[in-house]
Amino acid sequence: MNNNIDWQKEDLKYIWHPCSQMKDYEQLPPIVIEKGEGINLYDINGKCYKDVVSSWWCNLLGHCNPEISASLKKQADKLEHVIFANFSHKGIISLCMRLVKLLPEGLSKFNFSDNGSSAIEMAMKMSFQYFQQTGKSEKKRFMALSDAYHGETIAALSVGACDLYTKIYKPILMDVIRIKAPDCFRCPFGKNRDNCSCECFVYAQKQFEKYGKQTAAILVEPLLQGSAGMKIYPALYLKKLRDICDKYDVHLIADEIATGFYRTGKMFAVNHAEISPDIMCLSKGLTGGYMPMAAVVTTNKIYEAFYDDYSKGKAFMHSHTYSGNPLGASCALAVLDILEKGHIQKHIQDLRPYFNNLIKEKFLNMKNVGEVRSIGLINAIELVKDKKTKEPFSSGLRLGYQIYKKALKKGVLLRPLGDVIYFNPPLIIEKKDMDYVVQVAFECAKEAISEL
Ligand SMILES: *Cc1c(COP(=O)(O)O)cnc(C)c1O
Repeated sequence: MNNNIDWQKEDLKYIWHPCSQMKDYEQLPPIVIEKGEGINLYDINGKCYKDVVSSWWCNLLGHCNPEISASLKKQADKLEHVIFANFSHKGIISLCMRLVKLLPEGLSKFNFSDNGSSAIEMAMKMSFQYFQQTGKSEKKRFMALSDAYHGETIAALSVGACDLYTKIYKPILMDVIRIKAPDCFRCPFGKNRDNCSCECFVYAQKQFEKYGKQTAAILVEPLLQGSAGMKIYPALYLKKLRDICDKYDVHLIADEIATGFYRTGKMFAVNHAEISPDIMCLSKGLTGGYMPMAAVVTTNKIYEAFYDDYSKGKAFMHSHTYSGNPLGASCALAVLDILEKGHIQKHIQDLRPYFNNLIKEKFLNMKNVGEVRSIGLINAIELVKDKKTKEPFSSGLRLGYQIYKKALKKGVLLRPLGDVIYFNPPLIIEKKDMDYVVQVAFECAKEAISEL
């Protein structure tokens, strides 16, 4: 029946793809995927692509993971969705019971939504309302790091600071207090990762001294600023942040949307610093990349500030149609089933050095490689015009995009962030696939640079 349809043509007739200049599709039409298995995606012509970006960082345990699929199918035959105000279901209750044991201490109250950006919005509203209702109504503002990424809706964009996404909207964004983020590759204090004691925390200190009193919360991507180019910073920075938040009564909101569920080698990135945030946002890996679902988890202390007679008007009047969706919960439960067996953690521990060494051996000697950095199975290679001065290539060259196109031809889905090539594969990736994707990335980078 569908034999005569030109899928790419029909796609372009109707679909406005996310985060794309659609004119680019004249040269590179959409790749129409038919099925997935493990780290592989297959298009309608049967061509295989190794998905080492976990399809926007959400696929945790491989495409069409049999255990997650089975759990989802079973749930679909039982209950697909139910209003979440005053109604509940066993799946979501079980999920909270299990997550609370894995979360940092003190986080025990769950709100649900259906994507990361909405979770960020919810966390910000919750923090703001908390202070309105606890006699500190002067705390109305938010702090965030430079180069931050927290999603695409207006408040999430406001706390974000990647010009590519925010620049045009600045006139309609909130006025956020910006703290210069740690930058371990281009450290302003001339330190490196081995001899640093977070001298750059002074930037945070200054802003807290100046604005701490009027600030409700600071949002951070713990340890890993993903969209900024997989920038990795030390756990010590988070410890210091926890201390200063306590000092100034500012909520620490950990955006673990990208880092949660062993992406950094531990269940949550904040575990590296052994701290508990006041609010944590989860999404992406939560359902293994199966269903859109997000959770905002907070403390009993914050919850209590909303708990009163209805007439006091203190309730958190925030909802999303798909809050606590049963299909999402069934996938999240299957993800926890798999994680609780412990194989994945061991797999990451075993393969992390292999992957990182492989990449270092290939790339470190290249003329234009500024840094190779890694955490968990995430590895990033920052390409620079000048290795000595760390001067970047002109963004107009779109070097990363050239590498992306070349890698697609060879069946690897890389999606460089600017000129940072990175791997953030499903955690089940095996050595032979690592060998292949690193070799392809290397060849494509070399070729693209030589053509500049
Ligand atoms: C992806 C992401 C978000 C936004 O999540 P969406 O589901 O795309 O809205 C927020 N913060 C971080 C750190 C992310 O990686």
